[in-house]
Amino acid sequence: MSGRAVSQARGRVDVEGVSVPLEHFIEGRRVRSEERFEVRSPIDWDGWKLADVAAGGRLEVDAAVAAARRAFPAWAAMGPEGRHSVLARLADAIDAEVPVLARVETVDNGSLYEAMRLRVLPRAANNLRFFADYAVERLGEPDRTLPGGERNRVRYDPCGVVAVSTPWNAPFMLATWRVGPALAAGNTVVLKPPDWAPLTCSLLGEIANQAGLPPGVLNIVHGTGIGAGAPLTGHPGVDRVAFTGSPTTARIVYGDAAPNLVPVSLELGGKSPFIVFEDADLDAAAGTASYQYDNSGQVCLAGTRLLVQSSVLDDFLERFKARVGEIRVGDPREAETTYGPLIHPVALERVTGHVERAIAAGAQLAFGGHSLGGLYYAPTLFVDVPNSAEILQREVFGPVLTLQSFDDEAEAIRLANATEYGLAATVYTRSEARADRVSASVVAGTVWVNCFYVRDLETPFGGARHSGIGREGGRHSFDFYCDVKTVCERTVLFTGGDTGSGSSAE
Ligand code: NAD
Repeated sequence: MSGRAVSQARGRVDVEGVSVPLEHFIEGRRVRSEERFEVRSPIDWDGWKLADVAAGGRLEVDAAVAAARRAFPAWAAMGPEGRHSVLARLADAIDAEVPVLARVETVDNGSLYEAMRLRVLPRAANNLRFFADYAVERLGEPDRTLPGGERNRVRYDPCGVVAVSTPWNAPFMLATWRVGPALAAGNTVVLKPPDWAPLTCSLLGEIANQAGLPPGVLNIVHGTGIGAGAPLTGHPGVDRVAFTGSPTTARIVYGDAAPNLVPVSLELGGKSPFIVFEDADLDAAAGTASYQYDNSGQVCLAGTRLLVQSSVLDDFLERFKARVGEIRVGDPREAETTYGPLIHPVALERVTGHVERAIAAGAQLAFGGHSLGGLYYAPTLFVDVPNSAEILQREVFGPVLTLQSFDDEAEAIRLANATEYGLAATVYTRSEARADRVSASVVAGTVWVNCFYVRDLETPFGGARHSGIGREGGRHSFDFYCDVKTVCERTVLFTGGDTGSGSSAE
């Protein structure tokens, strides 16, 4: 893991052989800021500075929102078919750049190169394609006829400018999860990439220009959460706020958007249960449980609370330890690595603090609980955790799991629901009836039974309780990013002539 110096010239930096723009992207052009923030690679934090990126503020956000507003009428008027061809080109251009994006994202946020290249980044293009197709296919509910003969129909019109603020753990893919449906529905976007890993989102500007996205339809303002994020999500000129991140920041975002009375979508963190019943395939359960350390535990959906039926606890633990023993923590660019570093020294401090406080509260370390040097942290498991311990209640966002046992289904559900979160739950059982009962009873936006992480993009995604507000995916995204409008028409008074087709603009 050798450090290196990287030369920066004319607002660009060379990262792993890729020329990455460091300025904002407004109306299709790079816009410079004198203020900068430093980006370092978590692979070798002390030795590897990546870039000084433009730190935007209110001025840049104002300019980006104004550009998005100017671009909105023409983009909206293109209609779903017109936008489809542009977004399909954008998806193709992203596909072509996946290996390049993977090289940059790996050094920017420490995610596994192979996982980025094969699994995560291809989903970015899929998101754009899926929502572009969806906008074309979405015709709304069938027309109804009222008793007086009026035709009653529903329109899904674009709403205007969407503010998007996303986190660093899969920055490019998570940005497209918001940007894709917003653009497909006919809105224009201002994106604030995460300041801990902004580089691949910055490349999205270049890719958008190559694909022929009209200037101003997608704008990118770099900066810190306070410097650029807050002015954007609280901006009176935006019509929707889409935020993915922590509940703590979400409270601020929600408050800042409140005076503008705009809809806000919040995709937040979790402390998800991973429930293993005595009738489960224990090998499969142990394998999937060990996967919860993926990305150094920096996955919102991770099932970090292992709940295992007492009768199979020892058996499960033995198999789980064997699978964890196969984990290789190291440089995420290397093929044999299972997971890489934490993102930032602040993240290491947070993980270390959680571990120290759990030990102080009386939790027993089964393994791990220590740094491996730099920002690398050992896979960690706590057992015999007191019910009141913070480690059972708060998201660590690091490679730290807890193990609790339960005697019966009712206790499993009680423990599963014993936090303020509700993002996801995973259940291992061979009983379909039990799977159904547990799915109905756990508080979660997504429940996986004998599998993990898979989902059709048509189905809703989101969190209950403090894990979020709103759902995305398929029509759930569209309803959020559209002005849903009822039109009642006395059609007998139409005289023909202007057929008035097309999507409305402002
Ligand atoms: P964070 O809340 O600290 O920051 C998220 C983004 O918001 C960053 O880009 C940050 O710069 C920006 N931001 C900060 N203050 C802001 C403000 N006032 N207004 C607007 N933007 C602001 O979260 P993080 O540490 O970057 O990410 C980790 C969190 O995200 C975890 O809780 C994780 O579970 C969650 N997450 C959720 C999902 C999901 O889909 N539910 C996906 C990934 C991550």
